[in-house]
Amino acid sequence: MTIETTGTALLPSVRSFLERPKQLFIGGDWVDAAGGERFETMDPATGQVLTTVARARAADVDRAVRAARKAFEGEWSLWTAAQRQRLLFRIGEMIYDHADELAQLEALDNGKPATVARAVDMVWTAELFEYYAGWATKIEGRTIPVSVPWAPGAQWHAYTLREPVGVCGAIIPWNFPLLMAAFKVPAALACGNTVILKPAEQTPLTALRLAELMAEAGLPAGVFNVLTGYGDTGAALAAHDDVDKIAFTGSTEVGKLIVDSAKGNLKKVSLELGGKSPQVVYADADLESAISGTASGFLFNHGQTCTAGTRLLIEDRIFDEFTQGVAEIARNSKIGPGLDPATEIGPLVSDEQLKTVTGYIEQGLADGATALAGGRRHGDRGFYVEPTLLVDVHSSFSVYREEIFGPVAVATPFNADRGVGAAANDTPYGLAASVWTRDIGKAHRTARQIKAGTVWVNCHNAFDAALPFGGYKQSGWGRELGAGAIDLYTQTKSINVCL
Ligand code: ADP
Repeated sequence: MTIETTGTALLPSVRSFLERPKQLFIGGDWVDAAGGERFETMDPATGQVLTTVARARAADVDRAVRAARKAFEGEWSLWTAAQRQRLLFRIGEMIYDHADELAQLEALDNGKPATVARAVDMVWTAELFEYYAGWATKIEGRTIPVSVPWAPGAQWHAYTLREPVGVCGAIIPWNFPLLMAAFKVPAALACGNTVILKPAEQTPLTALRLAELMAEAGLPAGVFNVLTGYGDTGAALAAHDDVDKIAFTGSTEVGKLIVDSAKGNLKKVSLELGGKSPQVVYADADLESAISGTASGFLFNHGQTCTAGTRLLIEDRIFDEFTQGVAEIARNSKIGPGLDPATEIGPLVSDEQLKTVTGYIEQGLADGATALAGGRRHGDRGFYVEPTLLVDVHSSFSVYREEIFGPVAVATPFNADRGVGAAANDTPYGLAASVWTRDIGKAHRTARQIKAGTVWVNCHNAFDAALPFGGYKQSGWGRELGAGAIDLYTQTKSINVCL
């Protein structure tokens, strides 16, 4: 099949990967789906089919769970922490070595600029493997003084062990396909679990390539498995009685379904869900850097970011000047295919997303909003949307309340004397926020008022492998990244010895 591209030519390694058959990765083997079904994955820049992949159903989920259970109780359980550390570090290095290839695959499958995928997604994916490689040898229990009263004079030696949870299902979205896998897989493996990864149906390719690299790195069979499929595959995984934990990133709606499905065996659940993050800009901010920073705060990854700062709350005194500045950046953003190195805004991931995002914009305009920038689909081929800034927006409008997941922000003014906390928290979500000001006290006071898992000051979307990440309110349960992920993937056993 000839893949039509604009910009950088495809690497031979990407061509050869696209030409290889795509199967499920179960128990260390590449296998077809039990029912023989397949589905297409496409390039959102052109709408062209890139390749087909196997479609896993419940029978395949069952097979993968059995393989992951066998591996969990087999050879993998005997691996020392230092062995896991070395292996994860090796995988991190392999991701660096294959970063150009993985970035191109991501650009083709997701639509994001390959330059961004290379500089952000791949570097961070590799770092997360290396970061959790370091953790493998540092997961420790505690020695705890106890005073059990029922045996006067008795002496006790009590301690805790941190043990892996078991078979973990990781269900991830399409916005950062490989990186979202890296938010879960290395932490789970560092703790000694086995994993079944279910990538999003829109972007299955880099997960399959990751499985090849992990097998090459020497991971034992069954420790890491990949099931490509749709929502029903994820639902079967979440409902499976022999899965011990589900780690999910995606919509709040599906997060709630997962909680329901997990009830059967009360498996552990961690959720990283939607957001409608505010960016609060005070009049005393460095306006030049706040204008460009807030613009990229909602335009990064074409707004397909759960932390996208899509509600600009601007102090009334600077509202017009500020929004004009942001609108100008939005209007001048270079729209194009992900493989073109000049591209800043690529296509949305799918026709469905294109319809959802343009539907929100049309509804906002019908409700009475004004588009200072954008407001429409871009072109008639590929799934492009113009970067859009809406003003004259009331807090009851759907564009203000709901997660759009496209390059669309709303801007509303606030009066600093009345405070901004109520407006910032006027959302069922609580994933992230940013505050822009030169007044350090005001920055910290505002950060404390905002109910969100992450608050940035004078920046937006500044993540780190060591910083806990997750949501307040309906943005999720638990914290990924940092030490918090070790809590998600281990359970504590108390051992109390009567001496
Ligand atoms: P988005 O709205 O960003 O597409 P979704 O929450 O629909 O996000 O999907 C995120 C991931 O969850 C994808 O891998 C998708 O296949 C999976 N998924 C969708 N529906 C379900 C479900 N009912 N149970 C489990 N996983 C699901």
